[in-house]
Amino acid sequence: MRAVVFVEAGRVRIDDVADPAIETGGDAVIRVTRAGICGSDLHLFHGKAPLYEGEGMGHEAVGVIESIGGQVRSANVGDRVVVSFTVACGSCWFCAAGQTGLCEEAAIFGTGMFGGSLPGAQAERLRVPHADVNLRKVPDGIDDERALFVSDVLTTGVYAADLAGLTGGETVAVIGAGPVGVACAQALAAAGPAAVFLLDRDPTRLAFAATSGATPIHVEKHNPQMALAEVTGDRGADVVIDAVGSPAAFTTALDVVRRGGRVVVVGLYAGETVEAQLGVYWSRGLDLRFAGPCPVHTYWDRAMRGLADGSLDPSPLVSHRLGLDEAQRGYELFASRAATKVVLVP
Ligand code: ZN
Ligand code: ZN
Repeated sequence: MRAVVFVEAGRVRIDDVADPAIETGGDAVIRVTRAGICGSDLHLFHGKAPLYEGEGMGHEAVGVIESIGGQVRSANVGDRVVVSFTVACGSCWFCAAGQTGLCEEAAIFGTGMFGGSLPGAQAERLRVPHADVNLRKVPDGIDDERALFVSDVLTTGVYAADLAGLTGGETVAVIGAGPVGVACAQALAAAGPAAVFLLDRDPTRLAFAATSGATPIHVEKHNPQMALAEVTGDRGADVVIDAVGSPAAFTTALDVVRRGGRVVVVGLYAGETVEAQLGVYWSRGLDLRFAGPCPVHTYWDRAMRGLADGSLDPSPLVSHRLGLDEAQRGYELFASRAATKVVLVP
């Protein structure tokens, strides 16, 4: 089969690789119908994590089950399914507690040795361990492209909105109007906030604020701290979501949150450091929540319901639909921010 593989920093290619086969009784092999290129794939594309030449890439997929192992109970050949980007065992203490992103055996497709050396989802076929846990059937009426977002982006947005803990009437700031930020804004809208502000420096991305009724703030034209102070009686936002994952975004989150407010850190961090002014955090009574890898399995039913009732709609985010052999272009478009979401069609 054909698969997108890493070559070197800034370069991927299509390789002919062996077809995946059932390796343990809990496995399933799916034929991939849609795969996503995600912000976290860019870290790997840029060579910021150890990936060897020839290792598969991608962690978001939708497809049809082609074969299953002897211990698979709920998944069946022919089922149309979405794949959880975090692979969980389904039976450890963390999985039992619903914290599947922190599973003892947690792994992520297409992220090399630190992700459990699983194959990549940007391929014609994908072997999925613990298929009963890590595959969810896609209801009729939800097409493959929208279901793809349940794999990661949309479910992460629903998770972030849950961590935000809104009870209604809050002013929320979401930093970063990329796919995850937009998904957060859409999911937050259901919890009845007074207002959601979407912060970015890219006018194309800020236009997505309209998909959730959020108010865009161009951070190079308006000082975000002052913009939030103006609408909150000088207090600042009740809740801030960092949907970027950069020291600058993290610092902005702390700047715009009010005393006693909550910061939810959803953006992915690896080796970054910031100088933490502990006394400032303490005296301001900040509630700082790090999301970690999304417990997809705990939240994907909610994401799927949001798709079904129309409250969540990732379709406007898809800027490019490309064949697998155009993956290099897809990565480059996404890296240069000329694309908001690239969907690969194997
Ligand atoms: Zn992703
Ligand atoms: Zn587990």
